[in-house]
Amino acid sequence: MTSDNQPGKSTDNIQSLPDRFVVAIDGPAGSGKSTMAKLLANRLDMVNIDTGAMYRAVTAIMLDAGLDPSDENAAETATSAITLHFEKSKDGQKTIVNGADFTARIRRPDVDSSVSVVSAHPGVRKRLVDIQRQMGASGRVVMEGRDIGSHVFPDADVKFYLGASDHTRAKRRVKDLTAQGAAITEESTLAGIRDRDRLDSQRATSPLVKPEGAVEMDTSDLTIDAAMEKMLETIFCKINRRSGGPVKS
Ligand code: C5P
Repeated sequence: MTSDNQPGKSTDNIQSLPDRFVVAIDGPAGSGKSTMAKLLANRLDMVNIDTGAMYRAVTAIMLDAGLDPSDENAAETATSAITLHFEKSKDGQKTIVNGADFTARIRRPDVDSSVSVVSAHPGVRKRLVDIQRQMGASGRVVMEGRDIGSHVFPDADVKFYLGASDHTRAKRRVKDLTAQGAAITEESTLAGIRDRDRLDSQRATSPLVKPEGAVEMDTSDLTIDAAMEKMLETIFCKINRRSGGPVKS
């Protein structure tokens, strides 16, 4: 997605957001979830929780310790021992793992290629989902991942399911990774994305699915601003409908 720098048309009113409000954004890699979750949280002064970063953190810890990502016991032990939080910084959100800054580490290609193996372990998911539910239990939260609307917060106030063509998703990943100095091709990135899609949607425990009641958006040809406008409209329509107020167009 690109930004067309147009101001949003929504006459959104942050004050009308309830004290507890959960927006769930799910979708495969490169669908635009992270970009939209970050912008939406900023715009609405909500907390942004990137659950993919949590699975990535466990994976990075295992790889750095020389552990096999497919070893379920080792993965569960690593997850139980982990301390994890997000910190706001001028460059965006930092992922702090066991007291150290893992923001760049968790985006490296070795984590990309092992994270779906680690995230398929039921014990890892149970522990991280407990933490995610605690994080979202009070307050206004935009949470993004693969199972947020279907499993973590099935009663989320608003649910989105984002998608984009494989080609678009691969191009976005190449752009992000190249900006971080990685030398990668679109072909290998596409293969990696498809591999992750397959593992994430075929695993036994909370696979990637479109959650019931989710608003589906294909972001392939949407600008960031157009996607934002649609999401804001959906959110404020929901709030207005609940409060019996006028539905904004
Ligand atoms: O969103 P991101 O691409 O960073 O997620 C990395 C991986 O973490 C996914 O491919 C998936 O295996 C796992 N994940 C998950 N459930 C979530 C979020 C991410 O299984 N809620």
